[in-house]
Amino acid sequence: MVKCYMCETGELKKVKVPYNLYGEHLGDFEAETCGKCGEVFYSEETSRKMTQVAREKGLWGLNAESRIGQSGTTLDIRLPKRLIEFMDIRKGGTVKIYPEDKKKSPQQVL
Ligand SMILES: [Zn+2]
Repeated sequence: MVKCYMCETGELKKVKVPYNLYGEHLGDFEAETCGKCGEVFYSEETSRKMTQVAREKGLWGLNAESRIGQSGTTLDIRLPKRLIEFMDIRKGGTVKIYPEDKKKSPQQVL
C-alpha cells in the first residue's frame, strides 16, 4: 500500500471523486484518498482530464484578479468580461458582498 504524501502515515486507496466547479458537476474522476487525513490526490493525467472538461464547459479561467479603483469616496471593482457573461450580470443589477474571512485581504472577498 502507498502511504499518504501529506501525513505520511495513512494508506491511500483508489476512489472516484465527484468534480464540481461553480455549481456544475463535471463528472467523477479517479483519485487516491488517505484513510487517515482525508487528503485527496489526483494523478497528472486525471488533472489534465479535469482541466479539459472544465475548458470544454467554458468553466476554465473564471478566477481573475481585479484592481480596486476609486469613484468619489467609494471604491469599485471591475469585473472581467468572461465572469460577467458566465454570471449573467447586468448594469443596474445588484450583487451581495460579504467578508468571507477577516484575515484575507479584501481583494479575495468576491
Ligand atoms: Zn494522509
